Order: sequence, then C-alpha cells, then structure tokens
Amino acid sequence: MANSLFSLEGRLALVTGSGQGIGFALARGLAEHGASVVLNGRDAARIGSAVDKLRDAGFKAHASTFDVTDFQAVDADVARIEAEIGAIDILINNAGVQFRAPLEDFPEEQWERLFKTNVSGAFHAGKAVARHMITRGMGKIINIGSVQSELARPNIAPYTATKGAIRNLTRGMCADWAKYGLQINAIAPGYFRTEMNQALVDNPEFSAWLEKRTPAGRWGNVSELIGAAVFLASDASSFVNGHTLYVDGGMTASV
Ligand code: NDP
Repeated sequence: MANSLFSLEGRLALVTGSGQGIGFALARGLAEHGASVVLNGRDAARIGSAVDKLRDAGFKAHASTFDVTDFQAVDADVARIEAEIGAIDILINNAGVQFRAPLEDFPEEQWERLFKTNVSGAFHAGKAVARHMITRGMGKIINIGSVQSELARPNIAPYTATKGAIRNLTRGMCADWAKYGLQINAIAPGYFRTEMNQALVDNPEFSAWLEKRTPAGRWGNVSELIGAAVFLASDASSFVNGHTLYVDGGMTASV
C-alpha cells in the first residue's frame, strides 16, 4: 500500500526547538501523518501553548522543556520521555541559533554559543536518543542543516561552519549507527520566513536579492519542509542514510 510507506501511525517523535518556526511546522506535519510528538524548547510557556495548539487540533502532543546545551538535562529528559511517554522512534535535531557580525569582529562568546547549540546540541541529543534506538535496532534521526551546510554568506561564517558540521555529523552518525538499524539524514532548508530570519524578511533589498538568487524565485513556506521530514521519518526512506536533502527552491543547484 503506497500510503503505509509514509505513515507515521504509532510512532513517537521528539523535535528539539519546536515551540515555533520550522520545528513547530515539522512537529505538526509529523502529527498530521500519524505520529505522537514531543515538543521541546527552553521556554515552558511557549512549549505549553504550542502543545495546546496541537492538542486542540486533535493531535497527540507532549511537552519537554530542556536546553540542548545542558547535556545532563538532555539525558534526564530523554530518559523521562522513554519511561513515561514511550520509545522515541524519531528525533529531529532542529534547535538552532544565528548571530550576524563581520568575522573579524565576531564575538567569541557568540561563536561558542553557536557551536554549543547547533552542533554539540545535535550531537548530544543524538547520542542520548540513539542509545535507546540501538537497543531496539531501529530509529530515525533527522538533523536540520541549511543551505549554509554548502554555501557561505557574509557575516554568518560561524553559523556556516556549524551547518557544515551538521552535514558531516550526519554522515558520521550514519557511519557509526546504520549497522544498528538506524537511519540518520539531514534536511537542509533554503530561506524560510521564520523569526530567526525576521531581520532578512523585513529587509526589502534582501528579499529582492533572494528572489533573484533562488531559481524558484521566492521564499520557502515552512509547510514545504514537511514532505522531506515525513519521507525521512518513515519506512519510505529505509535505505536512505547519511544523506542531506536540500529543500531550497534550487538555490544550491545554481549560481
Ligand atoms: P527560530 O528561531 O524561529 O526557532 C528556533 C527554535 O529553537 C526556537 O523554538 C527556540 O526556542 C529553540 N532553541 C534555541 N536554542 C535552544 C536550546 N539551546 N535548547 C532548546 N531549544 C532551543 O528558528 P527557525 O525555525 O528559523 O530555525 C529552526 C532550525 O532551522 C535551526 O536549526 C535553523 O538553523 C534552521 N534553518 C532555518 C532556516 C530559515 O530559513 N528559517 C534556513 C535553514 C536552516 P526557545 O528560544 O524557546 O528555547
């Protein structure tokens, strides 16, 4: 049956950084395809209201408030979810931060924050969840990269370095964990209108540049990331491993 290939019925997904933006859209998308979802972020009130929105829409949603840079908290909450809610079948490492400044003036503490959140956070949540998945011989991990996994832009060199690291962390997770029945892949979004990009969305010159630079001629809508996530979270991708899927309107395909 074509549909069962993409069904997430009976699966439990943990999506980090899912109180808003891409993370929330992906969590909702997985729920629409049958998954129960655990929403995560640092702000309990934001996560609570995001959970309420999904429950009000008839989906199964739970809250998990931890900071991905607090490794003890990650371990503790992953253990709690496994014990109290159920086995985590799908992890989306989505929590991420951005900071823009010329590289020669880039503040050291922002470099550290970007790497700790975007790279170490994904490594640690990946490790904490994978240990459970390995004992079950199955599991799906989706890391969120970016077109900056491939391409640089002025003022965001450290972010670019973190997203390049995500592409290779994805390959490394595959190299270590595929043999245990896990599939680890990445989604690399192009430019989507979210709070992270608010400064760019509000800048007409940037929007005009983006529309010219992107073969599809526009910003992406977050709902357009759901298909890739459902594919990589479902049985449909059972032999896809270590891959980075660009969802970018063709930006990385052209100069
Ligand atoms: P937002 O800033 O809108 O959302 C980021 C989310 O991450 C927030 O919900 C935030 O919640 C959470 N978060 C941040 N730090 C932490 C942390 N330490 N622990 C737990 N949660 C955290 O960003 P987007 O939705 O735009 O981006 C989501 C992902 O997609 C990021 O990895 C980003 O790099 C990537 N991306 C985005 C693109 C875009 O066009 N928007 C393009 C390419 C990639 P809280 O502050 O409440 O903790």
